[in-house]
Amino acid sequence: MSVTGHRWIGVAFAFWVAAWCRYLKLPVVDDWCGGLAAFWGSTAPDWLELAKGVRQRHLFGLFAKDTWKRASVIPHRTVTHWAVLWIALLVFASVTLRVTLPFISSVIHASLFGFAVGGVGHLICDLPNPTGVPIVTPFPSARRSLHLWKSGDRREWLMVLAAWGAAAVMWL
Ligand SMILES: [Zn+2]
Repeated sequence: MSVTGHRWIGVAFAFWVAAWCRYLKLPVVDDWCGGLAAFWGSTAPDWLELAKGVRQRHLFGLFAKDTWKRASVIPHRTVTHWAVLWIALLVFASVTLRVTLPFISSVIHASLFGFAVGGVGHLICDLPNPTGVPIVTPFPSARRSLHLWKSGDRREWLMVLAAWGAAAVMWL
């Protein structure tokens, strides 16, 4: 999914998490922090790769054309997109969401839960693209894809709409 798509669906994930925290009757500040963390987590697998754009200049006689290529410290769609890691985080965060531990505020639990929801959601949104996401191990050979559409395809907005629709239902 494109960055823009991830951000838009991240807003829907924020409302999902806030609705769930509200349903659990957690303090209002938890709704907000969990929601913000969900938005943040919805783009996390990409920004955790520490990516930047690198300009490449191509010369054609007297003319030059610049193109931009993505370069990252951590290879794209490897360990930061590893399904096992994000699902384990989501399971841990779900189990500890309602546990009150000494010295650890419920805000931290709600934020961790929101971040994990955003991260798992990100992987689901990347799954239709041909590159896919690594499931069992963090290596490229473990990537699986649904091969439905390329990143940036208009059809990915169907996922955004579905997520927004689900968010609206949760808040009814
Ligand atoms: Zn991604």
